Amino acid sequence: MDKPPTPVNTGADSPDFLVKTSLGCSLVVLLILIPFTINNFIQDRFVMGLVTSSVAVVALMNIWNGLHGRYSLWVNTYLVTPTATFAIIYAMINLAGPGSYWPILLALAFYFVLPERRAWFFNVLTVLVSIPAAWYVLEQEIAVRFSAVLLGVSLFAFISMREINLLHTQLKEQAVKDKLTGLFNRNLQESSLQQAISQNRRSGLPATIVALDIDQFKAINDSLGHPMGDHVLKGVSDLLQKRIRGSDMAFRVGGEEFIVLLHNTNEDQGATFAEELRQEVEKEKLLPDRQVTVSMGVTSYKDDMDSSSWLKTCDEKLYQAKKSGRNKVVA
Ligand code: GH3
Ligand code: MG
Ligand code: MG
Repeated sequence: MDKPPTPVNTGADSPDFLVKTSLGCSLVVLLILIPFTINNFIQDRFVMGLVTSSVAVVALMNIWNGLHGRYSLWVNTYLVTPTATFAIIYAMINLAGPGSYWPILLALAFYFVLPERRAWFFNVLTVLVSIPAAWYVLEQEIAVRFSAVLLGVSLFAFISMREINLLHTQLKEQAVKDKLTGLFNRNLQESSLQQAISQNRRSGLPATIVALDIDQFKAINDSLGHPMGDHVLKGVSDLLQKRIRGSDMAFRVGGEEFIVLLHNTNEDQGATFAEELRQEVEKEKLLPDRQVTVSMGVTSYKDDMDSSSWLKTCDEKLYQAKKSGRNKVVA
């Protein structure tokens, strides 16, 4: 069975973030490496030259992908990371002191080319391999400082990337969610309906939308005040959210208007859902002095519809529910 749409692509692990960071990082690495590579061959350090060239080649692969707007997790995990790690350990063991600066750069670079968890993993691995190597090839005094700097840089990179990822996740959530009710806002509605339509065309699975509008809401606001109005909005949204399945989506599309997208649900099932919700809102004591009620229109997707005619049909049914006295479901 097809999966419902994933509403939010969370965190800085998202490919659009890594496309840019891995492109930038690879360009810098390439520029830094070119003079060293040339020098290695001039000095007849043939193996070392090959090692730096191979890092330059994998950096070029990333640059190629980045310039085409792509990011390859495979290339970065299985080519870039092992090649760069090998090159750096090789340089350290062969050049001792002069080679010992590179692991610091490597520890940082992981966070620019890999999703966060993989970056942690390879960062820890680098620390575990290069610190013993440093104690083996460097004088004790330098090895102590090398270890301290590498650990410090790793921790700074870890902390700042964690913070960036948290902020990134929050921003993405805020962009698609309504602050008052926690439901999705209009931004995600169109693409979600489109996905439901393509899923229906591909696999024939039914999908139904429910348009919900709180009755006489202006009167609630006018007589009890805006904060009480907000309380009702939150109350109705909570009841709605509790009723839908994990794969369904609820949107607040206007002041007191909501759209619910029910996956794998035909019109009869959608009408049953709406009727149960209507009764639940009616029963719930949301205000001390009056009953809060809602009206709903229910429409399942049909072949000749696009997202706007689907919504329009559903809105017309909601209008009929209002006209025929409110506190009704029309399917
Ligand atoms: P009907 O039964 O026909 O739907 O009548 P209604 O009064 O609910 O409809 P109307 O569209 O006239 O009123 C909607 C009101 O919603 C008007 C506006 O003041 C209020 N509103 C819009 N956004 C918010 C909000 O975020 N918080 C609060 N408290 N009120 C809001
Ligand atoms: Mg209303
Ligand atoms: Mg309204």
